[in-house]
Amino acid sequence: MIFDQFTILFHYTESKLIYKVTAMPTSSRSLTEKTNRESPVYLTFDVDWACDEVLEYAISLVEDSDTKATFFITHDTPLLARLRENPNIELGVHPNFSPLLENGGGASAREILQDIHAVVPEAVAVRSHALMTGSLLSDLFYKDGLRIESNTYYHVGREKIIPSPAYDPCGMLRVFHFWEDDCHIAWADQRVERDWDAGGFLDYDGVRIFDFHPIHLFLNTEHGQRYESSRGVHRAPTELAHHRNTADAGAGAFFTDLIGAIKARNIPTGKIADILHAFDGGI
Ligand SMILES: [Zn+2]
Repeated sequence: MIFDQFTILFHYTESKLIYKVTAMPTSSRSLTEKTNRESPVYLTFDVDWACDEVLEYAISLVEDSDTKATFFITHDTPLLARLRENPNIELGVHPNFSPLLENGGGASAREILQDIHAVVPEAVAVRSHALMTGSLLSDLFYKDGLRIESNTYYHVGREKIIPSPAYDPCGMLRVFHFWEDDCHIAWADQRVERDWDAGGFLDYDGVRIFDFHPIHLFLNTEHGQRYESSRGVHRAPTELAHHRNTADAGAGAFFTDLIGAIKARNIPTGKIADILHAFDGGI
């Protein structure tokens, strides 16, 4: 193997911090050096306790598009069996540490993580609800067998950063997502985003990870008010359907347009764990 760039990795053990000097294999860098036509697009979904009808709607969109995808799971549901039947779909975990900020719930961070990891024991990928992270959580992730973390969002168009994976000191490979439906909705509310041009986001370089929520796909949410005003019926799909945005601008329409643009440009799709494997199997 040819190494042409060295990086220092810090790896925590139970009792001490070990400093390892490790060479970054060229295969790692090739992820970001591929053209945006060759590099896969990653479609991810934060389930966020969606009721089965809403989750099923999102699953059907993925199945019909015949793309690879990663679902970050929040709870047990019979639909997990359907997701597991599809080799194109990867299951990750979406633990909710938010109650810890309010000193509520009674469960520790370790227990919260282990409870959801027990539902999806095959998961190696994690994205926390509300993207909560930090070195102590990353250490818990690694010790619980998780290896890749997707907890950082930035608006690539504003930040002018090329999304590139990187190891953190705990041994977790961190990947960055550059589009998230609720963030796009918030930017649209602030008139930072003027449209819902899905194809335009394929023009960016780097590892392009999109983050959708089933509720926003179902509602085709285009502004925060639609989501907030329907909160009372988010788990009542028949009533929720009356709150759907039928215009061609919204999160659901964005997904459909994105799939169309991916197909038209013949761009491959991938699962989050694929990025880990591209990084030479991790450390
Ligand atoms: Zn969430």
